[in-house]
Amino acid sequence: MRRTRSTKIIATLGPASSSPEKIDALFQAGADVFRLNFSHGRHEEHRQVFESIRETELKYRRPIGVLMDVQGPKLRLGEFAAGGARLMAGMPFRLDLVPEAGDIRRASLPHPEIFAALAKGIDLLIDDGKVRLRVEHHGADFADTRVITGGVLSDHKGVNVPGVILDLSPLTEKDRRDLAFGLEMGVDWVALSFVQRPEDVAEARTLIDGRAALLSKLEKPSAIDHLHDIIALSDAVMVARGDLGVEVPPENVPILQKRIVRACRQTGKPVVVATQMLDSMVHAPTPTRAEASDVATAVYDGADAVMLSAETAVGEYGVEAVTFMDRIINRVERDNAYAVITAASRERPENTAADAISAAACQVADTLKAAAIVTYTSSGSTTLRAARERPAVPILCLTADLAVARRLSLVWGTHCAVAREIGSFTDMIRKACRVARRAGFAQEGEGLVITAGVPFGTPGTTNILRIAWLEEAD
Ligand code: PGA
Ligand code: MN
Repeated sequence: MRRTRSTKIIATLGPASSSPEKIDALFQAGADVFRLNFSHGRHEEHRQVFESIRETELKYRRPIGVLMDVQGPKLRLGEFAAGGARLMAGMPFRLDLVPEAGDIRRASLPHPEIFAALAKGIDLLIDDGKVRLRVEHHGADFADTRVITGGVLSDHKGVNVPGVILDLSPLTEKDRRDLAFGLEMGVDWVALSFVQRPEDVAEARTLIDGRAALLSKLEKPSAIDHLHDIIALSDAVMVARGDLGVEVPPENVPILQKRIVRACRQTGKPVVVATQMLDSMVHAPTPTRAEASDVATAVYDGADAVMLSAETAVGEYGVEAVTFMDRIINRVERDNAYAVITAASRERPENTAADAISAAACQVADTLKAAAIVTYTSSGSTTLRAARERPAVPILCLTADLAVARRLSLVWGTHCAVAREIGSFTDMIRKACRVARRAGFAQEGEGLVITAGVPFGTPGTTNILRIAWLEEAD
């Protein structure tokens, strides 16, 4: 099964999409990676979903990536006596550590780290920013605030504190248990929520210890302050617009999106644009024009992947949402302006053999009107460098390592297949031609540009570029 687009689709699974039939249908509609959201669900449920994904992978013989999203230090209010309380602008309101049900005057906020970091004048945002409280006085275990924007507070609503760095590990006790479970199960990617500092990424990386690739979710202003260091320490990043749009003014989100995508494309790290892309499709069978435009913008910017959250996790039209995303991406990528923008924003190769070969492969494929670039890779890094070039033809990635193929399913322009290690030039050409034909990327008479490393099977040796033409026998 071949996709006809370069930008990938990530679909979040949830109650509306956890059956094997739904997962199969979402994959067929275009989902390349599935996200398991560990903010919800029990381990046993995640395991079942994970196994269904692997069954779908077997059925279609296509590597599928599994991204586990760990909740991170999501801050929440305690409970309320009447289930909630309506606050009016101008009212005083107290937050404290007292584990008693809240009312119109106070509520419990069971996170001492917040009180430790507060200062007079700092705003706390509740329930995706719907309610805004400004700190007037505070101590080690309380904050007296003034209601700036009123609204209803209810049990366990999320709290954002954009202005400060909280002394919190990016991984809570629950996250650590979830992570151990997910890694043992065999997820391909781990998404780290609420990253604040480069040290957060380093800490998670130590825990993951190479068992999965690491994606940092950028949803805090402090992460943006350390953007380049965080990108350097991560295998990929996500523009997590949901929380980011609460932590910074909404008009800053598109600017940050472009800045983050640009920074990732410079370094060749994959970047995902996420949240509310087709949000109205949670309840409607077609997207709004603005949503279609939003997906298109991410594609024109050169994101590696776009993501669906509630649309597929709880939405009534999950398969339709993936189908529309697939249609929008395909349409944009066929627009001549897309080719022009992509070529104009191409990054200069760095001073390495892998980049020199990748840039050359891109150019040779263009000059010869080749059908595809074929990269032989053992770690996936050569394929990433080829993707950084944003070539005009698909990148067929051949690797002996299924885990590498699954990780690369998130990356722009790549189509991965698992193939045994090659032993000779004849082997290299024959295998590339055979896979390209079988997967529907090239026909007899068409050309392939192949990159590989000699001696074969040694990581980090990419040093050859070979042109091959498909013959009848291939
Ligand atoms: P979430 O992350 O869906 O886990 O909150 C994405 C976002 O904040 O945009
Ligand atoms: Mn978030």
